[in-house]
Amino acid sequence: MSNKQLRIAMLSVHSCPVGQLGAKDTGGMSTYIRELAGELGNQGHSVDVYTRVHDPNDPQIVSLGQNARLIHLKVGDNREIPKLALYSYLPDFADNVENFRKQDGRQYDLVFSHYWLSGLVGNHLQKWWRTPHIIMFHTLGAVKNSLAIGEEEPELRIETEKDLAQNCHRIIAPTEKVKEELMLYCGASPERISVVPCGVNLELFRPMDKAMAKQRLGFTDNKLILFIGRIEPLKGIEQLLRAMPYLPNRQRPRLVIVGGDEQSQPDIEKLKELSRQLHIEESVSFPGLIKHEQTPYFYSAADVCVIPSYYESFGLVALEALACGTPVVATDVGNLKSIIRQGETGYVVSDNTPRHLADKIALLLSQPSPDRDSIATIRASVSQFSWSNIAEAIVRECRLVLANYAASSSGTVTFGTINDWLKPQNQQTGKEQKQPCSLCPRSTQ
Ligand code: UDP
Repeated sequence: MSNKQLRIAMLSVHSCPVGQLGAKDTGGMSTYIRELAGELGNQGHSVDVYTRVHDPNDPQIVSLGQNARLIHLKVGDNREIPKLALYSYLPDFADNVENFRKQDGRQYDLVFSHYWLSGLVGNHLQKWWRTPHIIMFHTLGAVKNSLAIGEEEPELRIETEKDLAQNCHRIIAPTEKVKEELMLYCGASPERISVVPCGVNLELFRPMDKAMAKQRLGFTDNKLILFIGRIEPLKGIEQLLRAMPYLPNRQRPRLVIVGGDEQSQPDIEKLKELSRQLHIEESVSFPGLIKHEQTPYFYSAADVCVIPSYYESFGLVALEALACGTPVVATDVGNLKSIIRQGETGYVVSDNTPRHLADKIALLLSQPSPDRDSIATIRASVSQFSWSNIAEAIVRECRLVLANYAASSSGTVTFGTINDWLKPQNQQTGKEQKQPCSLCPRSTQ
């Protein structure tokens, strides 16, 4: 298997990698998949990313660059289906992947699934194809529940993540902290976990003239503070709003909160209401979803980018901001402590209490805008996170997994039957409509 180019099937069942980033269910994972698939393709590997049709106008095949394709499969009707309700469509998804693969005459060396729902499909396909299965969970239900912020994650997810973590061939964790969480919450053995960080597109995210970027966006205020991402309670945006009144009046900053689709409107309304209560509504803008290709203007216009999250599995936005030469203030979550150089490229604060955030934001805003050299230093601090480096690290992991797989006596790991993987319907919590589970033998459910 040494240097043979790899043929990889990636799975992203619930979230479309070319969907609008910053929407309720489409964020860092989609950025990760499309960038990684594109870069693996550039390096000569062939990658097919399977997702479901989310919109009737979705073409079946979308190019993600050289040797990399996104394949939309019709599963359920062509509309948004809540994540948990997708569970009962997973067998159809697996069938459709297999049908497409056969018609297309493709063979894959391995399956790389993203998020627990795709993990279930990957587990199924690896048995059909007799290939190893690599998973990246992106977030863990048990960790989210331990924070007790936002919606509670169902037991079905927690149990499935445990099963998958203990039985797949390899887990990619973006940080050592996530590796520890996988061991603690899911009982994954350390040998099964490889730490490979996320990357940043250094071509797209480049510094540009701050004044020009501000003017182009119509933000002529003196100083600009940026939040960018999905609008949800775990992101801690309300803490950032509460930090605003602590900033010295003379700084007169504007806070721009980028992200949020129609489904995020209730959360956006809450943030607007909080802005009114804090009497800062005149200084806060909600431009909504911004096309990924346009976000470098926001990063470059910003004097500081803030990540006030209660939880991040990595902290992709910090890489993007720093690649544009903009300093970051972030809470000590994800990989932020190792990405941000304290006092040099920004600040990591122990938690997102408004005072802590405000102190460091004010410090950065009180300094003159970074000159060319400082911008170059900030950007250089993330150059090792180029997607070409990350893709090479992923390929090394894939080759290792393939070598181990070939060396193992049976070529398969000990999985239970399909029935063992599918939990009884009563383990599904949440309000979504439950469908009979067709991954189970169809006659019994
Ligand atoms: N993003 C975007 N447009 C928006 C909001 C976000 O392109 O309107 C992108 C952003 O540049 C980043 C991703 O969405 O690449 C969000 O990453 P993050 O790690 O915050 O997402 P999460 O892991 O929380 O889903």
